[in-house]
Amino acid sequence: MPQTRPNRTLGPRHDEFWAGCANGELRLQRCAACGVVAWPVTSACEECGSPDLVFETLSGRGTMTSWCTFHYDYYRGVLPLPHDTVLVELEEGPQFISNPFNLDPKDMKVGMPVKVNFIDCEDAGGVFRLPVFERA
Ligand SMILES: [Zn+2]
Repeated sequence: MPQTRPNRTLGPRHDEFWAGCANGELRLQRCAACGVVAWPVTSACEECGSPDLVFETLSGRGTMTSWCTFHYDYYRGVLPLPHDTVLVELEEGPQFISNPFNLDPKDMKVGMPVKVNFIDCEDAGGVFRLPVFERA
């Protein structure tokens, strides 16, 4: 049973990100000019301005940078309260906001190795797989 989530951003470039997730791959854009991995999805590199960005499959590994528990209903009932959010520094560089998977906030530590997993979700655009992070 997919979890209901807030609506994703869809369209050019975003669809390629979600197609990767559907295949169990965390695919982000790497700048062909300077090599920086961009996130969130963008039309130009934030480092050098180049529009030459190519999707590649990342390792899915990272380290826990921060986390918090939301008690306020920002999503008007779409997400049950409270819900946990994590900030992960991906091995390839970007900071990635996500949800923890099988991980309680009391067990989280800064610098803890984590890896991506994918859970079944749905929004107004249909069923999709959401990248979430668990203990590595
Ligand atoms: Zn660049």
